[in-house]
Amino acid sequence: MNGDTPAREFEIIERVFRRASGRPDVILGIGDDAAVTRLSAGHELVTATDALVCGTHFATDAPPHSVGYRSLAVNLSDLAAMGAEPHWASLAISLPAADDDWLESFALGFFELADKFDVDLIGGDTVCGPLAITVTVQGSVPEGAAVTRMGAQAGDGIYVTGHPGDAVAGRLLLEGELSGGHDADADSFLTRRFLYPEPRIAEGLALRDVATAMIDVSDGLHADLTHLLTASGAGAELDVSQLPLSGELLELVGESQASKFALCGGDDYELCFTAPADKAEAVAKLAEAVGYPIRRIGTVAAAGKIDWQLHGRHYEVPAAGFRHFG
Ligand code: ADP
Ligand code: MG
Repeated sequence: MNGDTPAREFEIIERVFRRASGRPDVILGIGDDAAVTRLSAGHELVTATDALVCGTHFATDAPPHSVGYRSLAVNLSDLAAMGAEPHWASLAISLPAADDDWLESFALGFFELADKFDVDLIGGDTVCGPLAITVTVQGSVPEGAAVTRMGAQAGDGIYVTGHPGDAVAGRLLLEGELSGGHDADADSFLTRRFLYPEPRIAEGLALRDVATAMIDVSDGLHADLTHLLTASGAGAELDVSQLPLSGELLELVGESQASKFALCGGDDYELCFTAPADKAEAVAKLAEAVGYPIRRIGTVAAAGKIDWQLHGRHYEVPAAGFRHFG
């Protein structure tokens, strides 16, 4: 660690981050100048990187276990959105001081999720500086099988997994910008949805042969769907009343605010995808298998406007951030 003794950096890596490799495709993991891994024949490498900066992406007092979990989760979500199977991660961490308790808890959260998806931490960097975490994940798809943002076709259904909007409510509850409801369990459900997003890896894999285009929802459903439609050169007709809002969110803020949270909130890490009519059955089967809704919210249209409707009338998606919903 720059500004710290090299021995201390090595000690942190050895004690906190180096573990026996569980994957046969890791030829050389942590400890050398670079890692060496093997990609299966007939597969393509899929790589994503996301940085989390303290004060911007997580609060100074955020539980380190959640920071560790989230730093990997947001990256795995990007692989999920490509229909990729995750294999390896590397972790660059900048720390103002080597706080052993913080690091150990961070690592527990990180490895909890890594183990869930059989992801090996194969390298990284540990430096002294403002608290920030940059994770790179790598995975694979069979040749040509990656699902991009570009394939949506007019007439395709537009779907979203799970319950968008929960995470921003959880975040606002944590920040004290939203008062808790009478149901403490519902409040902690919502804060967990922010602190511990579930990357939809299995769903992404199952959607490889179903989705024509896919994106993960990190900036709010409306913004991310707009990215997908723009990349596909398409427009859409959408129904606000079809948003799959959770009971917990509806109970806390009511339907009108809940819809705004779902459309503009962000941090959901759900998947938004398009699929042709003859795949509707496959989507329904997947929803049954995962045990939560995968809701059709609209239809892809020819290039042009993205038209949200509510009860037969145009619905103007709020342009301001969620903080200004009043
Ligand atoms: P170098 O100076 O050659 O870049 P380092 O001393 O930075 O090597 O790192 C030594 C080994 O520890 C490398 O394999 C590197 O990938 C790994 N490493 C360093 N920091 C981390 C970390 N935070 N998480 C995982 N592996 C790390
Ligand atoms: Mg280094």
